Amino acid sequence: MTAELPASTRDLRRHVVVIGAGAVGCVTAIEALRAGLRVSLVEPDPPGGSQASSYGNAGWLSSHSVIPPALPGAWRKVPSWLADPLGPLSVRWRYLPSALPWLLRYLVAGSTEARVLRTAKALRTLIADAPHLHASLAKEAGVPQLIEQRGLLHAYRSRAEFEADALGWRVRKEVGVRWQEWQEDALREQEPDLDARYTLGIFVPEAGHCRNPGEYVAALAGHAQAHGASRVAARATGFRIVGGRLRSVRTDVGDIDCDLAVVCAGARSAALAAAAGSPVPLESERGYHVVIKDTTVGPRTPVMVADGKLIVNWMEGGLRAAGQVEIAGLEAAPNWRRAEILHRHLKSMFPQLSQIASENTAVQRWLGHRPSMPDGLPCIGPARASSDILLAFGHGHVGLCASARTGRLTTQLLTGATPEIDLAPFDPHRFS
Ligand SMILES: Cc1cc2nc3c(=O)[nH]c(=O)nc-3n(C[C@H](O)[C@H](O)[C@H](O)COP(=O)(O)OP(=O)(O)OC[C@H]3O[C@@H](n4cnc5c(N)ncnc54)[C@H](O)[C@@H]3O)c2cc1C
Repeated sequence: MTAELPASTRDLRRHVVVIGAGAVGCVTAIEALRAGLRVSLVEPDPPGGSQASSYGNAGWLSSHSVIPPALPGAWRKVPSWLADPLGPLSVRWRYLPSALPWLLRYLVAGSTEARVLRTAKALRTLIADAPHLHASLAKEAGVPQLIEQRGLLHAYRSRAEFEADALGWRVRKEVGVRWQEWQEDALREQEPDLDARYTLGIFVPEAGHCRNPGEYVAALAGHAQAHGASRVAARATGFRIVGGRLRSVRTDVGDIDCDLAVVCAGARSAALAAAAGSPVPLESERGYHVVIKDTTVGPRTPVMVADGKLIVNWMEGGLRAAGQVEIAGLEAAPNWRRAEILHRHLKSMFPQLSQIASENTAVQRWLGHRPSMPDGLPCIGPARASSDILLAFGHGHVGLCASARTGRLTTQLLTGATPEIDLAPFDPHRFS
């Protein structure tokens, strides 16, 4: 970290404005400070607050989550996405015309095994050591207890259900992911509360998880501020660019003069990217969570089940079930029936929950916006109107996990260093 300068010293460091204090923005701020830049963190709401996707996610640091959301043959499921508004993936009819171009690109991106493999290889470079990087960030920020590295579990009802995911696991193996198979007895022994319909476990030892993503992000923001980052409670609205050089970031409370900027506004990044000359096909894949407080029933290892496509993870605040994908834009009201589906599924996974879940058992619910590009890869790179502006958003289902390396990469770009991985797959302009 940089040492703080005395107040009287004129600050000659290059000034970077980081827009958005979700996981990506906070790690970017920390890494930029470490590299000797002056940092302002612009965010209208409390860092780590419920407005951010980084707050309510499932907390998986799943270094093996390299498979894009759409796979070959996904187009066959389109009718059911439209017909079943409460299925694991749905598209609201009214929003269909707006979402159509994104949906078509989404289907094409996962249309062949070769494309899926290409995406997986790129994602793996971004997240392979994410649990380790996050453990080290959490330690640095004074919250080491929030990151655990003791594996993640996928539970299947049968081998046939696992075989239906064969492409995904084949591709994971090809990019270096290793796992253990837990047959029925071993699964029962490891997960005594899990419903007996699950008979096969796939355990990925390398992966980790976060026990409170909102607190973690708040701690990262606090750490950045403690080391000199200024927090500006404002919403960025655009940029003042003169002759290709960034002069200031425009906000709803005035302009902030700066040399550099990074757009990390999650699912709300598209307007800022367009203002920087880089229109991108960014969509919100809306997701939900429910948290049951006051229970001790649940998994020993954070678990994803194939039948409900939801993740169940112990958080500091209780047992969280997160999932669902709803394409309905940023502004539509939440459909809390989706949270109820998660709750019902959670209770079916852990039947004892139904016995103890009384009217007094508090259930929290939340809607969040995954910032998603059609191919499941983020945008990391300079904007067209000025190379002083970097884009760093679009991490979709793996943004918490991928934020650690993303912050390092944006800082390498900001300081002119050679990025530690190939950034070509994350080119923000790959769709234009
Ligand atoms: C249900 C669900 C489960 C998930 N599970 C996981 C998981 O297990 N593991 C995982 O890795 N990922 C998961 N994700 C995805 C992950 O949460 C996101 O990819 C990640 O949080 C994105 O981080 P971010 O910093 O880009 O955006 P955000 O966390 O959304 O932060 C963006 C911030 O920018 C601010 N902002 C917006 N507009 C402006 C503006 N104009 N000016 C200034 N600030 C602005 C917002 O207020 C917000 O605080 C899940 C998501 C959901 C919805």
